[in-house]
Amino acid sequence: MLVSAKEMLKKAKAGKYAVGQFNINNLEWTKAILLTAQEMNSPVILGVSEGAGKYMCGFRTVAAMSAAMIEDLGITVPVALHLDHGSYEGTKACIDAGFSSVMFDGSHYPIEENVAMTTELVGICGQKGISLEAEVGSIGGEEDGVVGAGECADPDECKAIADLGVTMLAAGIGNIHGKYPDNWAGLSFETLEQVKNKVGDMPLVLHGGTGIPEDMIRKAISLGVAKINVNTECQWAFQAATRQYIEDGKDLKGKGFDPRKLLAPGFEAIRKAVKDKILLFGSDRKA
Ligand SMILES: [Zn+2]
Repeated sequence: MLVSAKEMLKKAKAGKYAVGQFNINNLEWTKAILLTAQEMNSPVILGVSEGAGKYMCGFRTVAAMSAAMIEDLGITVPVALHLDHGSYEGTKACIDAGFSSVMFDGSHYPIEENVAMTTELVGICGQKGISLEAEVGSIGGEEDGVVGAGECADPDECKAIADLGVTMLAAGIGNIHGKYPDNWAGLSFETLEQVKNKVGDMPLVLHGGTGIPEDMIRKAISLGVAKINVNTECQWAFQAATRQYIEDGKDLKGKGFDPRKLLAPGFEAIRKAVKDKILLFGSDRKA
């Protein structure tokens, strides 16, 4: 059964660890993440961008596949199915489709509009027991065509959004999606600390978890980050392992062309990437 992310993040915040959100792209991705979370006895959040949702036929398909997979694989750790960077329409569609968690990314609207739309969604999600993530201060890099410069969130705006009753808050602290440039200035812990002081117990979300040095991740967790999004890292792991399989000519040997064999190295590589992150975030044995 899919659950809201509320309880797992409350526990993570109190226990000073973070729950990983791992974005999914297909059945193999979902299966790899679920099996690894179960093996590590860790709560987990399956992230779905609007683009990935379309790619997988639609949000209803994703919700049905995830819920059925949890049953068929005998997954007992808490699993939330979460819309990543949702538009207003996309957020509503995922609520209707059976997602247990959604992010409404109103960061590109003026704060008044972000507040108005978030307020409406807080009401809907509250009624349905769905967790809601909001964002203040755009996160840099590109995600499904949404490009941000990696600005730092205004702590007062963070408080204004947090006070609406959202479950968790993504605040830009210099983090970006995808690969970090060589001249990246690093996370702004000053901003993170100011935001934390304003929003109190609200679990904070760190986007763009790929490529942030481990000591910065640990420090961010110690300052109130309870959810960390990982996407690119699993893609790189899958790509490298699949490339190796082909370059080694394994697809040409015996039944190496069988998709179940062809996709197996990438699948295992995702499992390893997820396991490493769960250990880094400290959510193992916390289910
Ligand atoms: Zn993000």
